[in-house]
Amino acid sequence: MTSRRTFLKSAGLLTAAAALFDPAKIFAHNGMGLSGAGRRSLSGKGEKKIVLEWCPYEAKMKHVFTISHSSRTSTPIVLTRITYDGYTGYGEAAMPPYLGETTSSAVEFLKKAKPELERFSDPFMIGDIMKDMDELTTNNCAAKASVDIALHDLVGKMIGQPWWKIWGFDPAHCPNNSFTVGLDTREVVLQKAKEASIYKVIKVKLGRTEEQDKMMINTIREVCNNTICVDANQGWKDKHYALDMINWLNTKNVNMIEQPMPVGMLEDTGWVTENSPLPIIADESCQRLTDIRKLHGYFTGINIKLMKCTGLHEAREMISLAEALDMKLMVGCMTETSVAISAASQIAPKTKWSDLDGNWLIANDCFTGSQVVDGRIVPSNDPGIGAKMNKGVNLQFVGA
Ligand code: MG
Repeated sequence: MTSRRTFLKSAGLLTAAAALFDPAKIFAHNGMGLSGAGRRSLSGKGEKKIVLEWCPYEAKMKHVFTISHSSRTSTPIVLTRITYDGYTGYGEAAMPPYLGETTSSAVEFLKKAKPELERFSDPFMIGDIMKDMDELTTNNCAAKASVDIALHDLVGKMIGQPWWKIWGFDPAHCPNNSFTVGLDTREVVLQKAKEASIYKVIKVKLGRTEEQDKMMINTIREVCNNTICVDANQGWKDKHYALDMINWLNTKNVNMIEQPMPVGMLEDTGWVTENSPLPIIADESCQRLTDIRKLHGYFTGINIKLMKCTGLHEAREMISLAEALDMKLMVGCMTETSVAISAASQIAPKTKWSDLDGNWLIANDCFTGSQVVDGRIVPSNDPGIGAKMNKGVNLQFVGA
């Protein structure tokens, strides 16, 4: 006989595709609304009160990481935990220093968010909750993402399915995952390119001088002929120079260019995109849903990062809008643990480029989740975001 729990899981799954943005509908559809006379519990395992806690964490880099405007050896992270009815969801805010968020700004935000979040009686109201979170402050996008990811993890675990499945995405459509080689000396680049050659796609950070940029590509080409994605991180300030570089890169088995020019040079970027043989993807220019329309016609596509766009709820809306505008999709990351990487991997099946290597770049990942199999990113079959805390890890979450 089918157990009640199994029935609930499969019934929830069947209706999930129709519910899309509003997981609460999964339950309403099944006559299992979580409020009013028909209120039922999935498990009755614990207290039906949402509780938010957090734990600051320092992600230590395996190598010094250099992009066109900075170098660093660690990244501040704040992990979050949301509990409800005996279920636990984990989230993460990763905050590379150049983005303006810090451990203390994230903790300040979470202190503000805690009473707002905890007044909701139903964690399935992700849309309403995230709207409230967003209205609390203007920025704090990574801190907001830490709430969003933990909520998705929690709700996915309550449904008993990973989000890629709830959303009806096919993991067979996940693209090859790129491995990043940062700006460095020839000797270090040679070493890193050898390490990276097992990955099918190498992402190269450019955007310094022509000599340095060409040295990076030529050095990698001495070692391997893997497909290269180039990220210029706004480093090219002249449209003719940018196009010359792109035409040269096009002869080197490069298949896309990320953010060639500064955010403020949109018209020049549009000219580059129009003349470029390679797709031009917006990263720094595309933070959130509201940015997409103004980039249409200027970039070929957008790079979605959960830390920029406040998490999976908005990422899902960005995917729909970009698809409607016929813009290509990429999913990227910061230096993150497997919590945020596993969350981002849930949307990878919808993308053409996946750059989810943040967890490989750190030495002290405290979770395990999505994996790279035969070069492709593969989200876990585990429910929620599919990340599990590693054995022996002891994190002290606090909620005050
Ligand atoms: Mg980038």
